This record gives sequence, C-alpha cells and structure tokens, in this order.
Amino acid sequence: MQLNSLGFPRIGRRRELKFALEKYWRGESTQAQLREVTSELRRTHWQWQAAAGTEQVPVGDFAFYDQVLTLSATLNAIPERHRGEGVIDLDTLFRVARGRAPTGQDAPASEMTKYFNTNYHYLVPELSQNQVFSIAYDQFFDEVSEAQSLGYKAKPVLLGPVSYLYLAKTVGQDFDKLSLLPNLLTAYADILARFAAQGVQWVQLDEPILALELDSEWQAAITEAYQALSTAKVKILLTSYYGGIAHHQALVSALPVAGVHVDLVTAPDQLAIFANALGQDQILSVGVVNGRNVWAAEVDLIAERIGAVARDLGDRLWIGTSCSLLHSPVDLEVEATLEPALRQQLAFAKQKLLELANVRQLLLAPESIAAKEIVQTCLARREAKAQAADSQVIARVAALTSADYERVSDFSVRQAVQQQKYRLPLLPTTTIGSFPQTPAIRGLRSRWRKGELSDAQYTEQLQQVTRDTIDRQLKLGIDVLVHGEAERNDMVEYFGEQLAGVGFTKNGWVQSYGSRCVKPPLIYGDVSRPKAMTVDWAEFAQSLTDKPVKGMLTGPVTILHWSFAREDIGRDVIATQLALAIRDEVVDLQNAGIGIIQIDEPAFREGLPLKHSEWQAYLDWAVNAFKLSAAGVIDETQIHTHMCYSEFNDTIAAIAAMDADVITIETSRSRMELLNAFEDFEYPNEIGPGVYDIHSPNTPSVEAMVHLIEKAAQKVPVRQLWVNPDCGLKTRTWDEVEPALKNMVDATRELRRRLG
Ligand code: GLN
Ligand code: ZN
Repeated sequence: MQLNSLGFPRIGRRRELKFALEKYWRGESTQAQLREVTSELRRTHWQWQAAAGTEQVPVGDFAFYDQVLTLSATLNAIPERHRGEGVIDLDTLFRVARGRAPTGQDAPASEMTKYFNTNYHYLVPELSQNQVFSIAYDQFFDEVSEAQSLGYKAKPVLLGPVSYLYLAKTVGQDFDKLSLLPNLLTAYADILARFAAQGVQWVQLDEPILALELDSEWQAAITEAYQALSTAKVKILLTSYYGGIAHHQALVSALPVAGVHVDLVTAPDQLAIFANALGQDQILSVGVVNGRNVWAAEVDLIAERIGAVARDLGDRLWIGTSCSLLHSPVDLEVEATLEPALRQQLAFAKQKLLELANVRQLLLAPESIAAKEIVQTCLARREAKAQAADSQVIARVAALTSADYERVSDFSVRQAVQQQKYRLPLLPTTTIGSFPQTPAIRGLRSRWRKGELSDAQYTEQLQQVTRDTIDRQLKLGIDVLVHGEAERNDMVEYFGEQLAGVGFTKNGWVQSYGSRCVKPPLIYGDVSRPKAMTVDWAEFAQSLTDKPVKGMLTGPVTILHWSFAREDIGRDVIATQLALAIRDEVVDLQNAGIGIIQIDEPAFREGLPLKHSEWQAYLDWAVNAFKLSAAGVIDETQIHTHMCYSEFNDTIAAIAAMDADVITIETSRSRMELLNAFEDFEYPNEIGPGVYDIHSPNTPSVEAMVHLIEKAAQKVPVRQLWVNPDCGLKTRTWDEVEPALKNMVDATRELRRRLG
C-alpha cells in the first residue's frame, strides 16, 4: 500500500525560492548560486517525503517559475519573441515569464491564467499551427538523475498531453488545437522513453481536465492519447484532481494505463465506482488528504471510509494526497506563535505526508498503540472544535428568514428615493476605492507594525493622507468620493484581522505565480464581528466634505474565496456567517451617516465550480450571501458592488439578482464588448462600466473615454450609467492617477453637454 505524494510545494518553508529568484533577477547572484538554493530545496523536500514513508518521490513538481512553462520548454514550445536563436535554457524560461526578448528588450510575457479553480497561475502555452514538438530542454531528466543519485525512486510528474493542449492557446491563424495532438504524443512518447532509459518505473500524468464536462472531441483525445502512450516502457498513473471524474468513468476505466488516481476529497462517492471497475493489474490511487487546504485531516474517518476497498485491493491501493500539495503552505513547524486552538486544527504540506502514513497505519495495524493514539488525537480535535463553536453565531444563522435577504423596496422605488437624496448629475463620476499606496504609506505601516509609531501617530499620519486624497478628488470634481483605503494592506486581510474566527500565520505562504506568494487568512471558527471595522475612517473622510463619501467593504464571497476556509461546515454556511458580519458593518456605516456603501466582490466568479452543471447551486448561495450582507439598510442607502473582470454573459441573471443599486465592472480592455450581455438581458439597476484600464500607466485620452461612454450608452440607458475607472488605483502613482481622472471628468462633462 504505497503512499502517493502528487507533488510538493517548491517555495521552501521560508520562501527560499522567492528570495533566490529575485536576487538572481536583480543580478545580485549567479545562476550557479540560484541552482544551489533550488537543489537544496528539492533535496530537503524529497527527504521529508521519503522520511514520511513515501516510496517514490515526485520529480518535476519543482519549477523555477511554473511547471507548465517547464513542460513547454521541454516540448520545444517557446514563443519566438522570447526564444531567439540559441538553445532553451533557464534564462529563456525567465524571459517568457517576465517579458523579455533575447536582446534584453521588452517582449510581452506569455499570458498568465489561474490553473483550473485554484489560485495558482500558470503560463499559457502559445501554439501555432505549425508547432512541432520535440525534446528541447532537459530539466525533468536532470532532476530524475538528481533524485536517483540521492538514493530515491523517482516518479516524474507531468501535465498530461490532453490537458496541456486544453490549457494552451492558439496563436497566428485560427485552427483546431487538437490537430496538434498526434505530434504532441510523439514528443510525450520520447519523454517517456527517456524516463524509461533512466530506470523510472512509474510516471504520473495529470489530466485535470477530466474533472470538467468534456465534449466528445476531448474525450476522444483522451482515448487516443493513452492508447498511443500504452507502448511506453514505463507505467502510467493517470491522475485527476480538483473534482470527481465519475461522469467519465467508462472512458477512464477503458484506458490502457497502469493506474488511476481519483480525488476523494472533492468527490468521495467515486471510490466504489472506480474500485469496482479496476482492471486486474491496475492500481487505484485514492486522494484522501486534501492537497489544497491547511486543515488536519480526519484520518480516522478516512480509514473507515476506504477500509473495505483497502482490504479488497491490498497492494493495488495507494493512499495519496488529493492533488499536488503545491496549494498548501509548507511547514507548520516554522510557526512559532499560533493560538493553540488554531494550531491543533492545522496540517501543512509536510504534516500532510504524515497524515498519509497515519491512514496507512490505521488500515494495516488498527490495533497498534500508534493507531490508537492517532484516533485519540482525531477525537480530541473534533471535541475541541465542537467546544469552540460560537452558539450565538449559529443561532443567528438558523434564525434567518427570507426577508433578511431582501431590501425594503424594489430597485425602482429605491432609485427614486436615492436620486432625491443625492441629486447626482447625469453620468455620476466615482472611483473604485483605493488610491495610490505610496512608499510613504507603506513605510508608515511597517514602522507602526514594528512599534516605531504609536497607534495615535499612525492614525494621525493616515488621516493626513486621507485628507489629501479627499482634497484631490474635490479638485478633480468627482461626484462620489472615496476615502482611499490608505489604512489597508490588503482588502481581505484588513477585514480578516478584525473578525473573530479568522486567524493568520506568519509563514503560511502559498505560491501564486513565479516568485509571488500569498498568505491567505484562515477561517477556522464561527465568524463574527466584535466591533466596527471601518466606521472611524469613513466618518473621518465624510467629515471633510459635503459630497458623499462611499463606505468601502469587502464582500463575504470574496473573503471566503481568498481565505483557507474550514471544512467541517459548508461553504454556504461560512459565507452566511461572513455576510452577517459585513451586514453589521453596513448598518453601522449607515447609522454613522455614510449613505453610499460599496461591497466589493472581485472574486465572485472564481467560485464557479469546474462543472457547469454545478454552477447554479453555487450562484444561489453566493448571491444570497451578498444580498444578506447588503439588505440591512433603508431605501435611501445606496449599495454599490464592484467586480474586476469582464465575463458576464453566462452569469448575468445572478449578477442582477444580487440587486446592488450600482455595479462597477471592468470593461475598457474589452472595449465595452462585455456590455453585450447587458444589452440582451436588460440589466435593471445602475452600472459603471470602467472607462479606462488602471493596469496601464498610460493616460487615457478624453476622446477615448468619450467614445467608450457613448458606446456604453448605446447598450444601457444613459440614466443608468456611472463613469469610473476599471478597478482600484492602489498600484498607480498620483502622477498617473490625476491626469487620468481629470480626463475622465472632462469626458463626462463633454457628454453631459451633448446628452443633457
Ligand atoms: N476597493 C478595492 C480597491 O479599490 C477593490 C479592489 C478590487 O477590485 N480587487 O482597491
Ligand atoms: Zn477591481
């Protein structure tokens, strides 16, 4: 009964990879020094995995930047603009990722996209119709040798050919990606042959697209691929994760592969289906320890759940992580200070390896003392969690009625009342919330965190910044102001730090892309808001002007998606608890005289399940969470929301059901095309389609914005339109922001003249 690690995080428990990479990029270290750090990381991680009892160590999970990029390099699929004449080497990879030509000049980086429904971003392969795949980069093979020379049995881990194609984008003239499959399979066969020559026994080929609802062409591609690779001299472990694949069971079970890995964390029910269909010589790897959370596994319950299958299959069952541990922080041991109530609930990547071993212990020697201790720990942890429950929060959720989710009156009534109250001009102008987080502001925060500034000094300095931000908006002539969010480090962390039931680690970093890591909050208990979180700042800003200042909050769905959330209760319930906390803040803001309140939901779309058939269920509870957070106010109070993306065609009904009085969205990059969704659907409430792209430092011209607003006015009645940038301005400088907003206001005035 082997233990199967699908992949280990590469950043290092103290983010060694990040620091080594950035040093190298700054030209402060040599490539040899960078390589020294990275081989040390691999050695350590393999050693941990072997020490926990993993028979084969994953190889190929390490990447200098991104494992999909490493694979593209291996396959000779590197864009011409980054590649140049020479061979593909490490610097070529960095050029693709960081946007450089071989000459050192700028050459747009390859696009980066979220890997399925995770927060990990991969570099999208760019394939042209005449792409020819061949082995062009040796990192995978070198690392196999490296692991072997350290005495480990190496199990290469690669994205499978069909998922690779699926994730790629086509460049040049339009063509069917699948036409490249036969050639791609030849290259994969060559790769597998190289591994076989190195003495590799098993290769893990990841086909995460199996969790999607694939059309018949892609299903046929899976069959074609694994039939073609069946002559390889290695055993293939066909690996799925992030969701169940029972809907493709017949397809998968018919494949000539040596083993199949299924994710039982996201889809426990598929165990019996795949166990029953298993061929005599096949192994089944079951992903039972969640690779993408931070919580200790209930290993006793896992052992119970898979016990019968384990007895049936014996050695043909492997016990694995659900997916690669890439999405988990590295090591709990480096957390020096953590509340004990939180600590005992946690397991990071290194600890998860031990959980695999514990499951095996429970299955193979249930009567042993060690097994009894394992069970004891699980029981104690569950007991402690039950004790820690907040009965008030639970009762409040239970007492909710449908009325709590609805505003007092319909939008049309609210709109009239709000117009009466605010008397905003046609095409009111506003911004999305944040203004430049200058080095001076970040400096204040770090001095305050170190204790070099007292609370009072820090507050006073930030008030100065806020005053300046309000002044600038007044001079620009913006209609609905914001306080600027200078006091916020991050839009989720700021709230997480003030909510009960939410905790933070010091080193719980997870790779987002390249050298960038995020440290999500941990929602470990019932969530509540002990006291007001933003009211002081909003009141202060409002005291400086007669114009309305928008209150600024992060919505429940976004807080949930950008955190590690507990798994002992449903995500819908956690969202409801968060919504109640935000609702309390909304009501407090209103009572403090803040009449316009924005509840940001930039992550709303990220929660959409991989399977389309599961979308509606998600949308139902996510929309409800937002509505609950917003509905505690009187008609006069105007609720805004903001989403920073531009795909609404498939969710527009749900977005409308959120019933925000005003929604601001990203549109300028798509030249208002997304408003097509709003044209067909007739979105009932007010909309601020972003009129300029804040991701660019360029100053948008008055004409360009006039044009975009006119375009918007063709699709949405002009009385419903607002004028605003695409997103928050925190990453920009004042030198960029002021001329851009000046032009935005000028463009608006021009249109008011024309349309008014
Ligand atoms: N209010 C936030 C800001 O302006 C919204 C950020 C976002 O949409 N991601 O920064
Ligand atoms: Zn945004």
